[in-house]
Amino acid sequence: MDANIKISIKNLSFRYYRRNVIDNLSFRFAENKITAITGPSGQGKSTLLTTINRLWEDIPGACMTGNVTIQFKEAVKNIYDRSIDLPWLRKKVGMVFQSPNPLPMSIFKNTAFPLKLAGEKDNRVTASKVENALKKTFLWNEVKDRLQNDARTLSGGQQQRLCMARALVLEPEVLLLDEPTSSLDPLSVSVIENLLLDLKHNQTIIMVSHYLDQIKRIADHVMELE
Ligand code: ADP
Ligand code: MG
Repeated sequence: MDANIKISIKNLSFRYYRRNVIDNLSFRFAENKITAITGPSGQGKSTLLTTINRLWEDIPGACMTGNVTIQFKEAVKNIYDRSIDLPWLRKKVGMVFQSPNPLPMSIFKNTAFPLKLAGEKDNRVTASKVENALKKTFLWNEVKDRLQNDARTLSGGQQQRLCMARALVLEPEVLLLDEPTSSLDPLSVSVIENLLLDLKHNQTIIMVSHYLDQIKRIADHVMELE
């Protein structure tokens, strides 16, 4: 695969039962850039994201053909290859959804959750990774004195940054974001946009957005689904 390409989608078609949603799409996503996916609603933007972490596979009636190849740091892999371990893939490809979805537990436990799933047993390692992730999303100073509080007591913008910290705690190489700022106030939007600009130095970011001004502000590339 070419040097600056992180993800290559080839001849991707997708349907839910008999309804075609994506028809023979090919696209290459640049490494360590922000690519915005835009287009009218119902065009398959969210669906496309789920083909990059295989999240669609549990959806009844969903069917995909085509290939998705990712140039991971260790090797180039077809993510639909039989040898791919799904928990491993989800570690490498993180996802953040449209509305913040904190789990009903403390701020600390929310952030540490993926580490626990991945089998991390060392409490000091966990604490240090949680702190780093919360620092990356500029949340640490706001929450360090109340890490044991329920995450749902945070504001909407803080909850979304918490969800981003949770997605970042395993240091994924790719970050998928599905309209991550659409439920947020302007100040939180700007905090998250700055955060994404900061993250792209180490991460390939693919973000669904229908805000043209946002795309102009932060996207390096645009993919329009029509
Ligand atoms: P977008 O994110 O661009 O709004 P989606 O990917 O959510 O589009 O949806 C694309 C099309 O697929 C829509 O017509 C939607 O109704 C349909 N769709 C989405 N999810 C499902 C599902 N789980 N089952 C059946 N149809 C679905
Ligand atoms: Mg959508």
